[in-house]
Amino acid sequence: MPHKIINFDNSYINLPEIFYAPAEPTQVRGASLVRFNHALADFLNIDIADVSNHAIAELFSGNIVPNGAEPIAQAYGGHQFGHFNILGDGRAILLGETIAKDNQRYDIQLKGAGQTAFSRNGDGRAALGPVLREYLVSEFMNALNIPTTRALCFVKSGEKVQRETALDGAILTRIAKSHIRFGTFQYIAAMGNEADLKTLADYVINRHFSNIENAKNKYLELLKEITKAHAKLVANWMSIGFIHGVMNTDNASICGITIDYGPCAFMDNYNPQQVYSFIDKRGRYRYENQPNITQWNLARLAESLLPLIDNDSDKAIAIAEQVIIDFMDIYKNEYYSLMRAKLGLQKHLSGDDELVDGFLDYLSENNLDFTNSFRDLSKKINEEPYNDWYANWQKRLCQENNDKEKIIKILNQTNPAIIMRNHNIERAINAAYQLGDYTLFNEMLLASQAPFEAKPEYEYLTKPPRENEIVQNTFCGT
Ligand code: AMP
Ligand code: MG
Repeated sequence: MPHKIINFDNSYINLPEIFYAPAEPTQVRGASLVRFNHALADFLNIDIADVSNHAIAELFSGNIVPNGAEPIAQAYGGHQFGHFNILGDGRAILLGETIAKDNQRYDIQLKGAGQTAFSRNGDGRAALGPVLREYLVSEFMNALNIPTTRALCFVKSGEKVQRETALDGAILTRIAKSHIRFGTFQYIAAMGNEADLKTLADYVINRHFSNIENAKNKYLELLKEITKAHAKLVANWMSIGFIHGVMNTDNASICGITIDYGPCAFMDNYNPQQVYSFIDKRGRYRYENQPNITQWNLARLAESLLPLIDNDSDKAIAIAEQVIIDFMDIYKNEYYSLMRAKLGLQKHLSGDDELVDGFLDYLSENNLDFTNSFRDLSKKINEEPYNDWYANWQKRLCQENNDKEKIIKILNQTNPAIIMRNHNIERAINAAYQLGDYTLFNEMLLASQAPFEAKPEYEYLTKPPRENEIVQNTFCGT
């Protein structure tokens, strides 16, 4: 093994011991490399130029702990479907952090590398299917410029994991600006030591929000910054029809990135009530409820921060409450500005937001595909309008300063042609499980890196599922 593949620069491990538990990866018998993200490795200054695939697999399966790594499992809690639990990394091990080409700090984490102090009854492992889904969807999100964890590497473990049936096991190397969650604050707050809470808040400000370091009430500003980041994030999700599926507070990132791709999915037909997750029986995390849940989650975060916001708890509550109330306006602003752009509108005129709502009503009333209906707008500019909505929209476009050609260009740069459709992900997963065939996985990954290009060879990725291909349920990665 060459001397230094990853330049670690670890900081989380310097926090008080209550924040984590040391965690050694458990060895696997037959680690083999499936996919390595060379562009991301380059960005992270990870140098594998002279490293064999075998050695890469040993490293990113956890069989060999690289020099400089200080493996830990992070402690956190979280509201799962509304109920608070103490959790922690039960199947993820943080190897450490590294500074990337953007001078920012990134976590390098192995997901599925064996049991930790927080595994409870879990095996600490991950099955191939969910790893493959997370790889595809997170890299697609990144291609759309939506903040997300990334996928660096995907190895098969050579071992089976027991779920409902025995499945091939895999380990994903996940990269994130950090894995600190709303639930990290909830956990530290529940432990009741205010000094630790302050340590965590200061660490987060230093790592993610250094712009507020000198603010008068920096902990209040922290809540405001996180609120803004999540308003943007959920607006982005809504604008591409993304349903996270398990928006528990332990799956809500402090720095506002998409994290923990479990039963997530993109909508085919536009349906505000859409739920895919098998366990979400009451639709708590349905598409249209995602902004409300984000607000609810922010309120749980705010509760944890109260002792830092003001010594007078009534005062702290009043101030924090206002931030939570303001979330909805910030969200709506973000959402409508993204959605107006999807209609080719750059100006903001009165009636525009109703035009957005009207289009969505039209889609849901007629059971139309979300992604394709937006994408097809560029073809409808010069067509005879076939209903009132299209007529109004064409009239509205005349008030833009741009000519039609320019608007068509904008529309095609705003509305993706390719979306990671569930039935295609299922096909890729099945081919991997049943045949060890990663052709579709690789092709989807390649195509999704240019989601706004409508290449003929990827036309099949733009098609909605046929009746018999529709995926009704998705499952958590457990
Ligand atoms: P998730 O549904 O992936 O967000 O996980 C919720 C909690 O369950 C987290 O604390 C995970 O670490 C834990 N967990 C999920 N799957 C496993 C597993 N196979 N082994 C141990 N812990 C797990
Ligand atoms: Mg989770």
